[in-house]
Amino acid sequence: MLIVSEDICKKVISRQDAFEAVEAVFSAMTKGEAYNFPVIREAIGYADALYGFKSGFDRAGLSLGLKSGGYWPGNTDKGLTNHQSTIFLFNPDTGQLHALVGGNYLTAVRTAAASAVSIAHLARQDAKILGMIGAGHQSTFQLRAAIKLRNFEKIIAWNHNPEKLSVLAAVAADVGLPFESVDRQQLGSEADAIITITSAHEPLLMKNWIKPGTHIACMGTDTKGKQEVDPQLIAASTLFTDEIAQSVTIGEAQHAIAAGLKSQSDITPIGNVITGDHPGRTSAEEITIFDGTGVGLQDLAVANTAARLAEKQDLAQIIEL
Ligand code: NAD
Repeated sequence: MLIVSEDICKKVISRQDAFEAVEAVFSAMTKGEAYNFPVIREAIGYADALYGFKSGFDRAGLSLGLKSGGYWPGNTDKGLTNHQSTIFLFNPDTGQLHALVGGNYLTAVRTAAASAVSIAHLARQDAKILGMIGAGHQSTFQLRAAIKLRNFEKIIAWNHNPEKLSVLAAVAADVGLPFESVDRQQLGSEADAIITITSAHEPLLMKNWIKPGTHIACMGTDTKGKQEVDPQLIAASTLFTDEIAQSVTIGEAQHAIAAGLKSQSDITPIGNVITGDHPGRTSAEEITIFDGTGVGLQDLAVANTAARLAEKQDLAQIIEL
């Protein structure tokens, strides 16, 4: 059995590795070769923690396993990350435990890869301005994964606490792009591609602010009750997601669905665009939205790549069970 620590994951997984792993598993989901098992998420009544499992099987990528973990709000006081997770991979031929892989860094990388895949397949080729809503832990991963996918000339951003935007300004400086802190209305009216990655529970982007042809990756809403954009904006868009069942229940689409503005049949899995079964964007004026809810198969895909690369590079610890 392999043990692949958080530090080794950082060493072996590149943004390109994560992009390819997530794109491949979205494609496998569409082809019926990969499926997610029902998610378990429980308030355990101890340490205010939310704990659960996301699991699945990808027959094409041969990833079988689960991500176990959750949210411990008191961790910051202990100098730890509030979100904690570990990925368990099993040998699909024998059921034996194959690898234990640190899941914190990989969660950020696989979430960023999902919005990057959506930008690669759905944003206009001539997109020039990238807008960021949110400046928390995930935001820099999101920005770095997106920045090279088009010839972006400028980054504009908004955050609830504007002083936190310095983390995004530092990434922009690192890649040599101008950076501007703007209000949300200006962001909507200027950006060609937007990533939202917040814990908001109300719309931060209104339909009338968004210009035609924009692509928006809504990445923050992964729980019932969370919300980042105006349901009317969802209604006016061509809507894509990682998994429809999650999009309508815990994703950004939940509000437009509840209001009767969109129906489940209006939503296309992004895998259908990757495989060529759906054309994706069909005009320069169309607003496209990717509702990235986060599925267990993404975690398994990047963990499988991390385990393979760590073993190949003699960086994994090996334990006989
Ligand atoms: P974080 O706590 O580090 O940052 C939270 C961000 O949300 C900050 O920018 C904060 O200013 C902003 N925010 C919080 N409340 C807000 C409000 N009411 N209005 C506007 N902005 C608000 O969190 P993070 O790790 O960066 O994660 C961001 C979100 O992404 C979380 O909600 C998390 O659950 C979600 N997430 C989604 C996936 C996925 O696969 N879709 C994966 C990981 C995390």
